[in-house]
Amino acid sequence: QNYCKPTGQIHDACCDYETVESVNEDLFGRLHELVATPYFRYHKECPFWEEDGSCMNRACGVETTDEDHIPEAWRSYTLGKLNETSARRTSSPAGCSEISDSDFCVLEDELDSEGVYVDLLENPERFTGYAGPSSSRVWKAIYEENCFTPVPFVDASRSTADGGSGFAHVGAFSSGVSAGMGNGMGGGGFGGLAMGGWGESEKRLMGSLAGPRDPDEEVCLEKRVFYRVISGLHASISVHICDDYLDQSTGQWAPNLDCFITRIGQHPERLENMYFTYVLLLRALSRSGPQLVRTLEDTAGEVDTRAKLAQLVDVANGCPSTFDETSMFSGTEAQLLKDEFKDHFRNVSRIMDCVGCDKCRLWGKMQVTGLGTALKLLFSYDGASPLASPSDTALRAKDDPHAVVLSRSEVVAFVNTLHRLSESLAAVDKFRTLWAHRGEER
Ligand code: FAD
Repeated sequence: QNYCKPTGQIHDACCDYETVESVNEDLFGRLHELVATPYFRYHKECPFWEEDGSCMNRACGVETTDEDHIPEAWRSYTLGKLNETSARRTSSPAGCSEISDSDFCVLEDELDSEGVYVDLLENPERFTGYAGPSSSRVWKAIYEENCFTPVPFVDASRSTADGGSGFAHVGAFSSGVSAGMGNGMGGGGFGGLAMGGWGESEKRLMGSLAGPRDPDEEVCLEKRVFYRVISGLHASISVHICDDYLDQSTGQWAPNLDCFITRIGQHPERLENMYFTYVLLLRALSRSGPQLVRTLEDTAGEVDTRAKLAQLVDVANGCPSTFDETSMFSGTEAQLLKDEFKDHFRNVSRIMDCVGCDKCRLWGKMQVTGLGTALKLLFSYDGASPLASPSDTALRAKDDPHAVVLSRSEVVAFVNTLHRLSESLAAVDKFRTLWAHRGEER
């Protein structure tokens, strides 16, 4: 018997669950190896904020790495030299960030000398204890201020009346957050589920076997996709929390099945959104694979790492197409919708600065950057012309205004995000087995 195993077509994608799971079986091990290479494990971040008191758990802290451990080609000194001749990007007023027209998110400035290096392998995404009003406030802002919410929050006590048009400017949001933002949930927007007993949970989990419910058909594809990607990211983060969970009574780290059931198993739509997000990333990989490998060449990626990425791309290309990007932004309002989509996604990336736990913020920002990179590859890029690296002299000489620039940090974020989602799908499989064992023990 299969527990929590959805079947059939994934809504808004062009593939089914079974296909995605079998693709993931091929990709997960390769991705796992790839993210352990120096190119992908060292990530540059803006300096971490002062502790804001919202997460007192040591697990929230991030260990930074001395720049001496970073291969010379990626150090800010070397990268900074390249920057002297690169004019395409402009720094935003915020300082440690930058943006160009094709970007779907605000990027950390790789060249900023204030930045710190983080070894991602030393700082795994897992349970940190970050919860309560601070984390709820950030999720609430992401969904309610910046999303084209296609469906009311079925599991929250308050639903959104906004059909997706009135978005508060992120500046208003940021000042609200840094000022404490009043009473946070403003009347219990995230009340969570009033949980029944364990028997009830079981029934609901079994209910999810029926597969996802129909999304609201009145909402256009672009807005649904925006929501699905955010919800899918949220679900993936939740899966990692439950998969690497600290039992505070024993001090042991282990998968927590109840955590998974409450956060994901009881919500088939979250599971579907997670699969959808993975599908979108996979499509970006197969569509732009050779150009991604080229970016590794341009940014001093080692030969062995390039070969590993090329193999990954080959596997992705051997699979049926997972998502049809041409179905998006194709109507009469296409450009308007695309600009709006881009603006709101950029806002989400800004909101990530407000996450009050270093490790959560590290992975939150990384994954939003990875998703933003996928969106850029799918919707700002034709999939064929060369991608410019920030130091690409040939393209700069031609001064092609349409050239899409892809930096090392975007490729690092993209591949790590693909790995996060891939690991989440693998973890779901693990939880199914745990659930089956629990059933047998009863
Ligand atoms: P939350 O996960 O906070 O969710 C709030 C509400 O959102 C729910 O009540 C529900 O109504 C709705 N919701 C939940 N999931 C979905 C979904 N997939 N789709 C749509 N709606 C949904 N904690 C860690 O321990 N480790 C981390 O690495 C970590 N990273 C984080 C990164 C970010 C960017 C943020 C904002 C928070 C992070 N957290 C992390 C905190 C974590 O996500 C939860 O907020 C926290 O564990 C409290 O969980 P909760 O069960 O109260 O609901």
